[in-house]
Amino acid sequence: MKTLIFFLFLILFIVNVKGQEVKSYDFDVKIEVVTKQIHVSGIVDIDFDGKDSISLVLWKNSTIHKIVMNEDVVNYQFDTISPSPIMYIPNGRNLIIYKPEKTQDKKSIQIDYACDMHELNGWANSFSEKWIELNFYCAWFPVSINSSNHTSRLKVWVDDNLKITGSGVVAKKNDYWEMVQEWGAFDIVVIASNNLKSKLLKEGDVFIETDYSELSEQDADSVLSECSFALNMYQTLFGKKDSTYLKIVIAPFDKPGGYSRKNFVSITTSEFNLNTSGIIGHEIAHFWWSAANPQTWEDWLNEAFAEYSKLIYLKERYGIELFAKRIEGYRKNSMNTPPIWGADRNSPQAYTIFYKKGAVILYDMEQKIGTEKFMDFLKTLATKKVNTTAVFLALVEENISKEMGMWIENKLKTE
Ligand SMILES: [Zn+2]
Repeated sequence: MKTLIFFLFLILFIVNVKGQEVKSYDFDVKIEVVTKQIHVSGIVDIDFDGKDSISLVLWKNSTIHKIVMNEDVVNYQFDTISPSPIMYIPNGRNLIIYKPEKTQDKKSIQIDYACDMHELNGWANSFSEKWIELNFYCAWFPVSINSSNHTSRLKVWVDDNLKITGSGVVAKKNDYWEMVQEWGAFDIVVIASNNLKSKLLKEGDVFIETDYSELSEQDADSVLSECSFALNMYQTLFGKKDSTYLKIVIAPFDKPGGYSRKNFVSITTSEFNLNTSGIIGHEIAHFWWSAANPQTWEDWLNEAFAEYSKLIYLKERYGIELFAKRIEGYRKNSMNTPPIWGADRNSPQAYTIFYKKGAVILYDMEQKIGTEKFMDFLKTLATKKVNTTAVFLALVEENISKEMGMWIENKLKTE
């Protein structure tokens, strides 16, 4: 009975999580650098999944010119006052589109809107001639709360002296740039710069492109070779990646950081150094560790595993002393922090808890069961795309031991 209730819950949960979603975007995007405006028009394919509306998030300073379907006006509500429904998009606002009555669930909606980007200042976003970076974090496109698997096709117009890159395959056409993302993803990253350069690395079936503006040639080569090393090492450890295409873009700012999308990584740095290696090691590891919901405490399954993978990579590249020092530092930093179990993803300590404390637990686990068994287990987890701690713990019990499962659960619940 207990099992039945659990499965019913699981089915309800999956159905609920799936919900209404955007299947694809087909947009014309005009970027006006001087006035900091973008004008977007095109088609959004929506699956309403039996509901009467879909909840989206759009940049707060957007003016919606029209939303129609086959010339008929579509009802919508753009709430520019209430806070964003998605924590990672603090300057997003809720746009609810109502399904026209008596129509099928799958609909192509035409939308036309403009975004004023003067107030753009959030994480990994920028809008200047030197570097424009627009993505999920600012919701320049109507982000669907449930969609993690949409495709996109853009035509982008920008001033002649700027070049375009981004999270899809980019090609220059007559007077515009085409960017196609035929693989499912939850973001559409558009980057423009008046000084964009590109380098390619082809090794066997691995194809890596790096796009950058202010990095030296030598540093760009280092980025490519580190990406290649990390990619090959993780493939050996965690299993083959489904695609061997990778684009890594280097934003020219002095606030180190990065984010990872399907086949795409964006990092911020003005030079290549040990820190850059670490960011590359972490972000590329997300190709294997990104199945859990990043808005909940389950995100430790993404961040702790990506961070520990990074430490394994740094150990390989820079030696065991550096690795040991990092583990020691992480252990010190995460002492007396709240438990990972149920932790608030939005708290100021989230980084320490999810990345550092989580990585230390994985290190201790490796010490307890031995490296060989531990690595085999990581491969199992990555292959199964484990997305909840409940499933993770069940797999620990199944593959290692009941005691180990209890030990980890206890660690996750300890300060
Ligand atoms: Zn991460």
